[in-house]
Amino acid sequence: MLRIAGGRVYDPANGVAGEVRDVCVQDGKIVADVPGHARRIDARGMVVMPGGVDIHAHIAGPKVNAARKLLPEEHRADVLERTAIARSGSGGTVPSTFATGHRYALLGYTTVVEAATPPLAARHTLAELRDTPVIDAAFLVLMGNNLPLFELIRSDEGRVRDAIAWWLRATGGYGVKLVNPGGVEMFKRGNGNVTSLDDDGPGVTPRRVIEAIATAVHELGLPHPVHVHCNNLGVPGNYRTTLDTMRTLDGRRAHLAHLQFHAYGGRSRPSSRAPELAEHLNTHPELSADVGQVMFGPATTMTADAPVSAVLREITHGRWVNADTEAETGCGIVPFTYREPNYVHALQWGIGLELFLLSRDPWRLVLSTDHPNGGSFLSYPRLIRLLMDREFRNEQIRRVNQKAMRRTVLLDDLDREYTLQEIAIITRAGPARLLGLRDKGQLGVGADADITIYDDRADREAMFQAPRYVFKDGRAVVEDGELREADPGRLLRVGAAYDPSIEATLEPLFEDHYSVQFASYPVSEPWLLEPARTVPAEPR
Ligand SMILES: [Zn+2]
Repeated sequence: MLRIAGGRVYDPANGVAGEVRDVCVQDGKIVADVPGHARRIDARGMVVMPGGVDIHAHIAGPKVNAARKLLPEEHRADVLERTAIARSGSGGTVPSTFATGHRYALLGYTTVVEAATPPLAARHTLAELRDTPVIDAAFLVLMGNNLPLFELIRSDEGRVRDAIAWWLRATGGYGVKLVNPGGVEMFKRGNGNVTSLDDDGPGVTPRRVIEAIATAVHELGLPHPVHVHCNNLGVPGNYRTTLDTMRTLDGRRAHLAHLQFHAYGGRSRPSSRAPELAEHLNTHPELSADVGQVMFGPATTMTADAPVSAVLREITHGRWVNADTEAETGCGIVPFTYREPNYVHALQWGIGLELFLLSRDPWRLVLSTDHPNGGSFLSYPRLIRLLMDREFRNEQIRRVNQKAMRRTVLLDDLDREYTLQEIAIITRAGPARLLGLRDKGQLGVGADADITIYDDRADREAMFQAPRYVFKDGRAVVEDGELREADPGRLLRVGAAYDPSIEATLEPLFEDHYSVQFASYPVSEPWLLEPARTVPAEPR
């Protein structure tokens, strides 16, 4: 039992904005009160928030592991020694599993979503998540370039819903991810990429895939709507495709991943179209997005969008990986460094900030760097300072490529400064709500006792970099900025019912497309699937 006494509490989901009050914990949950002999933490002068929730990051699975293998010099430069509590590991832009859990916890994050797992790689992702301490984790299942699903969309669209629910059950996944729908399959056939939603590459257009899968996810009532990485990522002029995708989703709930990478105007040289996209998002309450902010310094791009990696590699001329997951998706990895004097990099940085500063609803435009694509999750505190501290932001704006800044609205000195309440929304309450995780991102009675306590410091970067306390399920995992426990977290998976006859429909499609036997495909190993919390779908 625990009483966190006298802190200023930011709990936007419950309408609490900086009020001084106590937060009480018993048996891993928030409760209304605890007896006088409960442990007491004096939080006077401190800021109390729910534990952070990362809606979109890449932390586990074969692509993450391939990136680790690609970057031995990062491991040498950032070694984490074993302690009495923590196992050893390595850091860099793609930390080892142990380091990932430790560092997220030390940053005050307690829930993270791995945003892209091919169904065939579910075992690997689950095994790594099991190995990642402290944080609860969910993963999204890639379905935008899946050949059996394409066949169903073409011939028997009514069964797509059951098939998706079956795939989620078979993998232990939480939600559905589309990455460059249709385009990755076209690339794998040697035909480049799709350029619009109406290119008929693999026998079905991106528009058809988006419509069929968004509808199915909507009808299944999954807690998190379809999570879309649009076509044409990174391409100048791609904002048109992004707007077209948003309109195609019309009326259905959807989450757009890393919107910054999809907000470019221009033809050969990109420009910013962030204001148009921000406006569309502002006026369409069924849509949400995470930003995918670029932060200067080293990053590692890793994506199921294999054709994008092929293009990036032409820019870096360095090491890269490109891989094919049979019948399901592709994958590319390219180490990358974002530099302040570079026009494109500065523009990307600026577009992310524009999206944040022009957003009118923090519940629907939430913080991400698409870790490690736009930068490491370790850069979140600096990003928070950029949003909260106008003077600091303007200093940074003056340092970077000025041609790029002139293509944004940032030189107009946007005076917005995010409040602590807004930061609490974009880093915990908002992502939890968009994910449909009702026990997360809030401190109401009955919620998970995932709590972060910060010293209230004027330097917001320093403040968010080193929380004083972090509680996970009511247990102190960080105290005085140091790791105190590193027990495993739990898997968050979805429960969605399906008509079992879908298996008879899928089996012959598997025979046609997969080298894996249908019967061997679903994850059945108990140690991979437990302990887990199943969040039920609410069918419409
Ligand atoms: Zn991503």
